[in-house]
Amino acid sequence: MSIRADRAAAILPGGVNSPVRAWNGVGGEPVPIASARGSRVTDADGREYVDLVGSWGPAILGHTHPTVVQAVQEAAARGLSFGATTEREVELAEEIRGRYAPAERVRLVSTGTEATMTAIRLARGATGRDVIVKFAGCYHGHSDSLLVAAGSGLATAGVPDSAGVTKGAAVDTLVLPYGDEDALTAAFAEHGQSIAAVITEAAPANMGTVQPPAGFNRLIATLCRNEGAVFIVDEVLTGFRAGPAGYWGIERDADLTAGVEPWQPDLVTFGKVIGGGMPVAALGGRADLMEQLAPLGPVYQAGTLSGNPVAVAAGLATMRLLTDDVYTHLSALGDRLIAGVSGAFADAGVTHSVGRAGTLFSFFLGLADAPVTFEQAAAQDTAAFARFFHAMHDAGIYLPPSAFETWFLSHEHTEADVDAIVAAASAWAV
Ligand code: PLP
Repeated sequence: MSIRADRAAAILPGGVNSPVRAWNGVGGEPVPIASARGSRVTDADGREYVDLVGSWGPAILGHTHPTVVQAVQEAAARGLSFGATTEREVELAEEIRGRYAPAERVRLVSTGTEATMTAIRLARGATGRDVIVKFAGCYHGHSDSLLVAAGSGLATAGVPDSAGVTKGAAVDTLVLPYGDEDALTAAFAEHGQSIAAVITEAAPANMGTVQPPAGFNRLIATLCRNEGAVFIVDEVLTGFRAGPAGYWGIERDADLTAGVEPWQPDLVTFGKVIGGGMPVAALGGRADLMEQLAPLGPVYQAGTLSGNPVAVAAGLATMRLLTDDVYTHLSALGDRLIAGVSGAFADAGVTHSVGRAGTLFSFFLGLADAPVTFEQAAAQDTAAFARFFHAMHDAGIYLPPSAFETWFLSHEHTEADVDAIVAAASAWAV
């Protein structure tokens, strides 16, 4: 007999250790997950599902990849934690820089929240300015100054901001509508000399998936450069997931094809995929900025378990398995899934749109046009999504339990998995 929701709720607030794991956005109570392999998760009652949560991004190779598990077992046998630099930390940092050139220097941390929090502190420390610009609907983890209009779990819970964030912590965070070039230009005209940094998801994926409007990231980069602000690109979710060099790499390749000089982030944050399912995240960026971090510079940041050897082993093994074939497979399966589900919805007259950024995608029920701003994304039919979620779950498909989340395929998903997803969506739509 598994631990049921009421026993979990009697000890864990809400029965969970991270809010989006609760089914508040769709109703009902999740059965604990017992194990996962390949494209499947199995719950504590022994029911198997085709998994589209993928641990919220890390499981790009599918669950329990044998090479990754072996790397973890070997690392664990050598020692769980030393509190000193290991060779593999260096190798993982080099692997990141080899794929993502703007990460000239890399600091490993344990969570995406730490990476973005450190990026903000570094930008403020380097510029001597206070104001941070962020976009409504972009989630950058749960540090105080970034927990304003933050999408993801807050959007699911229907709350704009967290309680417990002081006015002082939020007062220097300027929130703008995503994709709004006029608002961004006006903010720089008014506050230019006070802006320490602009932070954005490389492509928003915490209000559903949103494709950045053409030229939007470039405009941010240009304004930041002209005004001496730091451009922080958050690739915690998109990094090595949307494409081989994150979403930045997709825009870089398009620019190079068009003969245009690609824009560059000053700082970039990673997480999820670079830990392969273990707690590894990173801050990377321009050498002159990164060298302002302690012990070289005056901006303090530290972590007892940063670069943990077992976690790094999982991340390194995962990164080394991320060949172009992985992304080709993800892209082809995404095309098949989107065509199938979208076709089924269209045949049944279900109004919907698809948001897509590289290999990432999500569906918006009730919206004929894919949204760009959070306001537009929030107008989707969340009640219809809740019905859809439960029908899919009953049919053995594990979707993210929120209309504001991206769907995650893995290299282990097959065309047969996708066809099962499409069949379940068709059965719901009729
Ligand atoms: N940034 C983005 C874009 C994210 O999607 C997330 C988590 O979903 C974070 C930061 C925070 O990462 P973590 O949950 O590891 O703290």
